[in-house]
Amino acid sequence: MGRTGGRRYRTNRARVLQGATVCYLCGQPIDQSIPAPDPMSPSAHHFVAYAAGGGDEVANLRPTHLLCNQKQGDKPTRVVNRNSREWT
Ligand SMILES: [Zn+2]
Repeated sequence: MGRTGGRRYRTNRARVLQGATVCYLCGQPIDQSIPAPDPMSPSAHHFVAYAAGGGDEVANLRPTHLLCNQKQGDKPTRVVNRNSREWT
């Protein structure tokens, strides 16, 4: 199990971001056409951080903005947006 950049992460990241329209952390729209490293480019956030034992499986990834993902870091996920629905 490696850190960000692993083959599994990249594959699953692409799967999670496919069709993603809203950032899991801030609830704002994600524009898939914005390329990294733009702060508003799409990114995959680890719901359970590596430090807390989370892995790169699709079930542990959430679509976010790069900026939101970086702000969140390895802290436990806290969703501030009250309008966000339960993840299904
Ligand atoms: Zn966001």
